[in-house]
Amino acid sequence: MTIKCKKCSTPSIIYQPYSGLHLCEKHFYEDLERKAKLTLRQRYPIKKNDVIAVALSGGKDSSVALLLMHKIFGNRPDIRIVAITIDEGIAGYRNESIARAKELTARLGIEHIVKSFREEYGKTMDDITSEKKLMENHFGDEKKELGACSYCGVLRKKILNVVARDIGATKLVIGHNLDDEAQTVMLNHFRGDVERMVRFSAANELDGFIVRVKPLRKIPEKEIALYAYLHDLPMELTSCPHSFGALRKEVRRMLNGFEVNHPGTKYSLVRGFDNMVPLLAAGLEVSDIRNCEICGEPCNDSICQACKMLEKSI
Ligand code: SF4
Ligand code: ZN
Repeated sequence: MTIKCKKCSTPSIIYQPYSGLHLCEKHFYEDLERKAKLTLRQRYPIKKNDVIAVALSGGKDSSVALLLMHKIFGNRPDIRIVAITIDEGIAGYRNESIARAKELTARLGIEHIVKSFREEYGKTMDDITSEKKLMENHFGDEKKELGACSYCGVLRKKILNVVARDIGATKLVIGHNLDDEAQTVMLNHFRGDVERMVRFSAANELDGFIVRVKPLRKIPEKEIALYAYLHDLPMELTSCPHSFGALRKEVRRMLNGFEVNHPGTKYSLVRGFDNMVPLLAAGLEVSDIRNCEICGEPCNDSICQACKMLEKSI
C-alpha cells in the first residue's frame, strides 16, 4: 500500500519519525526550505547589501547550503553570493570534490574561489599528517589530543575567514547539519569545555571573524542527503583517508541509536544547548581578541591556533 503525504494525497517519499509526518517530494522541499529560512531569520538575519560567502567543499551539506542560498537570495540584486572552496591537499579525495564544486557553481552561475593549503601554508594536509606521525612517535600524548581533523579544521577555517574578509563578505555560510551540531554539543560536554561551547554557538562579529551562518543546523543529515540526491547535487563518493575522529564517530553512533529509540533527541539536544548559551555566556569572562604575532589574524592568544599548529608540524 502506498503511503500518502500528510499534507496532500500524493505518495510520500519520506517519513520523519520526530514529527510523525509522511511527506511527498513537494512538501518535503517546502518543509526543509522552511526550516532553513526560519533558522536564518531567527539567528542570522540577512541584511541589505550582505555579501554571503559559502564554504563549499563539494559534499552534500555545503552543496545544499549553496543551493538554498541561491534559491532564497539569488534574485536579490543587492546580495552577492560567492562560493569558497579550500583544497587541503588530500590525494584521492579532495580533487574529486573540487571538480564537483566547480560544476555546481558553474551550473548555478555563482562566483567561485579556490584556495589551497599548499599556496597558503606551503604544505598540504597529506604533508602535515605524515610529519605529525613522526612527531607523535616522539611525543606519544599528542596523538590523543589532536587528530588530523583538528589540524585540518583550524587551518581551513583560517583561510576561509581571510578569503571571506578579503572579498568583503559579511556572512560565512557553513553546511553543518543537525547531526553535526548535536555531535558537537555532546563532544563539548564530554570535554567539559564550557568556553568552547559558548564560542561554538555565538555568532558575533566582535571576534574579528566573519559571522558564521549555519542554515542547515536544524535539518537532519538524512534529509540533506535526500534533498541533495533529488536535486542532483554532489554526494560524497569517497571518504577522507585522514578522518580518525574516533570520539566523534562514537558519539555519532550513540546519537543515531538514541534517535531511533527516542525520535527528536538530536533536536532536543541542540535546543537545550541554545537555551543554555546565554546563561553560560553571562557568567563567562570573554577572552580579549588580539592579533596573532605571526600572521596578524584575530585570536585570543599571542599566537593563533593555526600558527601554533604549523610550527608544531614543522
Ligand atoms: Fe580534513 Fe578531517 Fe575532513 Fe579529512 S575528514 S577533510 S582531515 S576535516
Ligand atoms: Zn597566526
